[in-house]
Amino acid sequence: MKLLEERIRNEGVVKPGGVLKVDSFLNHQMDVALFDAMGEEWKRLFSDKYINKILTIETSGIGIACIVARHFGVPVVFAKKAKSINIDGEVYDAKIHSFTHGRVYDVIVSKKYIGSEDHVLIIDDFLANGCALEGLLSILKEAGATVEGIGIAIEKGFQHGGDRIRATGIQLESLAIVESMNDQTGEIHFRQES
Ligand code: 5GP
Repeated sequence: MKLLEERIRNEGVVKPGGVLKVDSFLNHQMDVALFDAMGEEWKRLFSDKYINKILTIETSGIGIACIVARHFGVPVVFAKKAKSINIDGEVYDAKIHSFTHGRVYDVIVSKKYIGSEDHVLIIDDFLANGCALEGLLSILKEAGATVEGIGIAIEKGFQHGGDRIRATGIQLESLAIVESMNDQTGEIHFRQES
């Protein structure tokens, strides 16, 4: 998506360790008009799918998912970062290794809000090693829900989480795929879509 690539190129800051900061429009200040355009694009890309729910994860996915949900006319459920895990059996839980914070945390989703009748589109801000998505996919598997697809704003192609998920046959649509970036020069290169 050219619009998103331009914003990343103009405003993205490349940090050491393969971290891209996009705080001016995605992760701190949020450009709602851009999110709206992203929603329109995902609606087009997933137009042949029946989707009745969007699933995302705290924190940065929530804002994007809410705007995107307006295009699909469906509710958003977000996986919560939890201190206590599944004691009473009322929640699905998964362990996720955080790329940006370098630690493992638990996420939970109430069994009230996702079930076997649901056809789910997952939305998130970044895809790096794929741990966050794998956690969400394991929750959906436990719920018996149907995964209709995954929409990611920015995939870091050099970290290969996306390759693993595409190999499972799930429709994964990343609106910008960063192929390489340089923290010395600040240069960012995108994967050219055919
Ligand atoms: P993964 O689980 O795919 O390794 O990482 C995905 C999660 O880590 C995303 O939800 C995002 O919050 C965070 N993340 C990973 N890489 C980056 C990055 O380069 N920049 C930012 N802002 N967040 C990232």
